[in-house]
Amino acid sequence: MCVEAQSAVAPHPSMSSSPRQSALSALASRVATPVAVENGVPATELFGMDVFDDAAQRQRLPKPVYKALRRTIERGEALDASIADAVASAMKEWALENGATHFTHWFQPMTGLTAEKHDAFLVPVGDGSAIAEFSGKELIRGEPDASSFPSGGIRATFEARGYTAWDPTSPAFLRRNGSAATLTIPTAFCSWTGEALDLKTPLLRSAEALDKQARRLLALLGDGDAKRVFPTLGVEQEYFLIDASLWQLRPDLVACGRTLIGSRPPKGQELEDHYFAATPERVMAYMIDCERQLWRLGIPAKTRHNEVAPAQYEMAPIFEPAPVAIDHNMLCMEIMQSTAERHGMKCLLHEKPFAGVNGSGKHNNWSLADDRGNNLLDPGHTPHENLKFMVFLSVVLRAVDTHQDMLRASIAHAGNDHRLGANEAPPAIISVFLGEELESLVRSLIGGTELKGRKQGALELGVTTLPPLPRDTSDRNRTSPFAFTGNKFEFRAVGSSQSCAYPNIVLNSAAADAIDHVATEIEKRLKGKETDRRAVIEAVVRETLKKHERILFNGDGYSSEWQDEAARRGLLNRRDTPSALADFGGKKNAELFERLGVLNRRELESRQHVLLMAYSHRVNVEAHSLANIASTIVLPAAQKAAHAMAQSLSSVRAAAPKAELGELETLLTEVASKANQLKGAADRLAKATAHAHESDGDALKSAEGYRDKVVPAMRDVRGLCDQLEALIGDEHWPLPKYRELLFLK
Ligand code: ADP
Ligand code: MG
Repeated sequence: MCVEAQSAVAPHPSMSSSPRQSALSALASRVATPVAVENGVPATELFGMDVFDDAAQRQRLPKPVYKALRRTIERGEALDASIADAVASAMKEWALENGATHFTHWFQPMTGLTAEKHDAFLVPVGDGSAIAEFSGKELIRGEPDASSFPSGGIRATFEARGYTAWDPTSPAFLRRNGSAATLTIPTAFCSWTGEALDLKTPLLRSAEALDKQARRLLALLGDGDAKRVFPTLGVEQEYFLIDASLWQLRPDLVACGRTLIGSRPPKGQELEDHYFAATPERVMAYMIDCERQLWRLGIPAKTRHNEVAPAQYEMAPIFEPAPVAIDHNMLCMEIMQSTAERHGMKCLLHEKPFAGVNGSGKHNNWSLADDRGNNLLDPGHTPHENLKFMVFLSVVLRAVDTHQDMLRASIAHAGNDHRLGANEAPPAIISVFLGEELESLVRSLIGGTELKGRKQGALELGVTTLPPLPRDTSDRNRTSPFAFTGNKFEFRAVGSSQSCAYPNIVLNSAAADAIDHVATEIEKRLKGKETDRRAVIEAVVRETLKKHERILFNGDGYSSEWQDEAARRGLLNRRDTPSALADFGGKKNAELFERLGVLNRRELESRQHVLLMAYSHRVNVEAHSLANIASTIVLPAAQKAAHAMAQSLSSVRAAAPKAELGELETLLTEVASKANQLKGAADRLAKATAHAHESDGDALKSAEGYRDKVVPAMRDVRGLCDQLEALIGDEHWPLPKYRELLFLK
């Protein structure tokens, strides 16, 4: 390569002393790191290699033990504790053969993250040698000293015992580190009084509640054979990928996962040249590496592509039973982050890492399946004749309309506040999109007009050599928070960093509640009377649809007209996390969760408390980081720049007294006065942050204080920082800029 071409990429040598410039020059020589390990092993062989899955269980367990375990996994039957020793022994042998030295109970505390503590299998036997041990007791129950997890008041430190309980429905797996491995056992986490301290327990309870109600409804529809109905879930995961050497120079990214300042780059996403474009080589090497690890863990990673914003990408797996899909998504986020490190990059899962370009979400594709492989939300080719589908459709509309508040609360999160309603993500108003065909079907049912199926036409492309394409019966709507997409509902408002547990706890519970209502109504009308069953069910469907019609919206969710229209319809519009969570623990939800056996009152209130406190803590960390960056990085940079400008002005004035310098003087004045204003704004931010705690332990009041006092003060500080970045000389700016973070690979 010629010398000129190299110096076009590398910074000027005179600049290479500043950390920012060194990082930039290091970046210039980075190359893609192709994956070396097990290259060439076909994906089908890799798949599930590190999972103690059905095949491994069948091969290694005594037949009766295997059968008992599968009955629990597949049919939800109670776990027979007497098989634990046999399972533990087989699991241990399998793990040891695969290089494992440790085991861990892996759980999901209320932080919304995962947690683990490792124990070695190794036990010394007294003669200087050691053996590997793992008992049924150790498989079934763990007791992490868990006093430092948030419990929302369920547990004080003096009664800090917490237990983990083996969840046999999610298979154990190996996590590798070089040639070593850890046997990882998915578990639920509870207090010594049996109250759930995690997200997994209520999730499993909500799936059981849904199963019970759905089978009841199926039986009323004349289908009493289903042994189990369960929620299915496919989680599309968006993320940003940036260079690690630039990341480490941004204290905001390090502490908060997002940039707190940064002026708009000259180019953003307006050219639409990143979406679905060819993936850069370094990023592709990363994606391939991730996928191979995911496949080994039995995670069915399927699609990969560039997303809308520069440096933004997406990965989607094939759907699975919801609790397993959620475990897999948690694991996926971990792997995406650790793999990025190995490639000299950082994977940002924050909902809004950069202002001015799209943020990241997580599409929660949800449906209901039975044990015979039927999708209960599959309309088939003639939805108008498909009574079962119409009943379940009406149930979902009722669930979403009745429990808008809970659905909104389930995605409330400081990071998601930057996204919802920001013309890139669904609005904070929850509504349902059905697509043209289904919506007109619903409307004609409500209006009592004749139901007609529509013919599936073909698309003619006008080129003889191109094949005719079958036309889908509905188009897509990208602005709806809750859209029917063919045979599933897609809840699109979930934030990219969030666990899908809450959205699915709420969805399952809301659906179970709606099914209960509809089934009760049908039962009432059928009781003791010789009635036409189909007519009764159709009438209930029609009434349900009519009652909840207001939740349907096919238009542009980004428009301001929708905000007005939604208000007229009485739909909720809770714009931020504190408002979304304000009544999450209230009477309506407490009664519902208690009735379904998903969360008791204390468990619910504790979750509301933890979520509100998490909001306050997050904003608090951001506020401290920003005040610190403003005072110790931006302000000194501005002063240095002003000093250099002043020196240059006076030396030019001495050497060329006739030179016109008015504009330069104005620039200097602007920089100096913005720096001065920044000092004031940073002080006000620090003060607002210090006072935000003063809420007498009231979590809602505290969160509202952060929202009303701290967030606006942060906005002021950011505004001034961004203006200064645009004014002062590049060599004086110490932080990597948006144009570097987003575009250099
Ligand atoms: P897109 O919505 O982007 O067009 P797809 O239609 O391929 O993408 O599906 C997105 C996600 O929805 C995938 O994870 C897919 O496995 C999942 N999905 C498909 N069918 C179901 C279902 N019945 N239940 C739950 N998720 C599903
Ligand atoms: Mg999708």
